[in-house]
Amino acid sequence: MSAPTTGTRRPAAEALITMRHGAGGRAMRRLIEETLAQGLTDMPVDGVGLAAMDDGAALRVGDRWLIVTTDSHVVHPVFFPGGDIGRLAVAGTVNDLAMMGATEPLGLTSAVIIEEGFRRADLERIQKSMAATCRDAGVPIVTGDTKVMGRGELDGIVINTTGVALTDTVIRDAGLRPGDRLIVTGTIGDHGIALMVKRHNLSLDGELRSDVAPINRLIRAALDAAPGAVTAMKDPTRGGVSSAVHEMAEKSGVQVVLHEPALPITDVVRAASDMLGLDPLHIANEGKALLGVRPDAADRVLAALHAHPLGRHAAVVGACTGDHPGRVVLDTGIGRRLVAEPDGEPLPRIC
Ligand code: MG
Repeated sequence: MSAPTTGTRRPAAEALITMRHGAGGRAMRRLIEETLAQGLTDMPVDGVGLAAMDDGAALRVGDRWLIVTTDSHVVHPVFFPGGDIGRLAVAGTVNDLAMMGATEPLGLTSAVIIEEGFRRADLERIQKSMAATCRDAGVPIVTGDTKVMGRGELDGIVINTTGVALTDTVIRDAGLRPGDRLIVTGTIGDHGIALMVKRHNLSLDGELRSDVAPINRLIRAALDAAPGAVTAMKDPTRGGVSSAVHEMAEKSGVQVVLHEPALPITDVVRAASDMLGLDPLHIANEGKALLGVRPDAADRVLAALHAHPLGRHAAVVGACTGDHPGRVVLDTGIGRRLVAEPDGEPLPRIC
């Protein structure tokens, strides 16, 4: 008797969760679609729910929208050049709210799980950093939770933050239209490369620092510069610009042509990427956004970004076309090639 064949049987390698499933790319998206979201996406939601797999949810409250987003932070090491897990935990959630158009967060929650034996001084340093980042973003932490697990049951500390905000206009990651320009708000690859260099103890000329920062005020300036002209937003975190642009192009049904010479990349990130054999397009950022903008407003939005300290290196890096929906192409200035969608971030525990 032959073994029954089913269309849903998965290869043995898929029976266990691997680090790839947390890397922010295709593997993670499949895990969410095939397992974590099962039985949940057909329940009615008045607004943007889980099925949209956007940066957060948008729930109708009267004539406004309540934006909700949540993020757990497992970064290793907890202190890294340019930031730490506390700054990351606040900025990550504030930025996901901003990506939905909600730039004035009402409040954050903070749930902290600590391993027995964690240094009190390190916890105090992380807490101070969270408080300072909250002031940067203009958001209070309004409630929280504290748990301790036994030695070896958890690696150091995990911080989850949830954020809520109201907005009149929701901006999606699926709103790109043919003709839109794609703007990145600054240099790419800084966060992931800074962590990688720290973990591998590489020595390089030039300063490598994570870009981790709350960018809600930067985004507000961009939105106010050209009301209604920003069609889509996404922050290129795990999987980098490549992952985020693929998701935006696929959901929006457009092709995105990236202009390689326009991509803002620092010399030190370029040098470290070459040394590590990595493409900065695939590397995580924690203080950047991708904005789809109507072509006639691109200059105004760019000028507003340039006027803010966190947007000095913003650039128009691409354009959308109506053919080949979902495709991402890199124009090198000499020729064109397809950009492959990364399976996820090459380095685990990046955020
Ligand atoms: Mg996001």
